[in-house]
Amino acid sequence: MVLKGLLLVISGPSGAGKGTVCQALLKKKQNMYLSVSATTRQPRSGEIQGVNYWFKTKEEFEHLLVEDQFLEYARVYDNYYGTPRLEVEKALETGKDVILEIDIQGALQVKEKMPNSVLVFIVPPSLTELKTRLVNRGTDSAAEIEKRLKCVAEEIKYISSYGYIVINNTVNEAVGKVEAILIAEKCRPYYY
Ligand code: 5GP
Repeated sequence: MVLKGLLLVISGPSGAGKGTVCQALLKKKQNMYLSVSATTRQPRSGEIQGVNYWFKTKEEFEHLLVEDQFLEYARVYDNYYGTPRLEVEKALETGKDVILEIDIQGALQVKEKMPNSVLVFIVPPSLTELKTRLVNRGTDSAAEIEKRLKCVAEEIKYISSYGYIVINNTVNEAVGKVEAILIAEKCRPYYY
């Protein structure tokens, strides 16, 4: 019997290390697909069209919205972000596990539409550590970093909507925990 893939939704404050955890997971797991989101945000240096994001104009994004092309979408930090629906559905149909690295608003929409999806919230060991990581990443201005830190308190309020919380002390440890979550989720009765 070919089991459908599992939909893993990863959220957390920016700088918590979600991206690193997802990339490390993808390296270890062959049958896994990381969804590439569409966004109206400007590409950061080194970001590649179709790899990091599908970069769109506001008009292009809104057109896709009208065509119901997104599984979920949200406005985050003044930009639109959305998950292309067809790619995700196709991967799940063929038995691949799919990772969505999306914000809380999007995660709640996915949980509503696909109740068997697995929601994991990744947190940094502390707020001080979060700030250090954002500064060291060097991709955001000081004002942008302050804006993102302010959002953390708001985001934490929704943490109980998630199935799991993973503290990202080290990447290896965090990836190990997410792998354990995947194994446990695949033992649930509806998977058989
Ligand atoms: P960044 O601009 O740092 O790449 O992402 C900002 C926030 O948008 C992050 O919390 C990221 O997880 C979230 N995000 C990225 N793609 C999507 C998406 O397709 N949908 C939603 N709802 N959030 C997304």
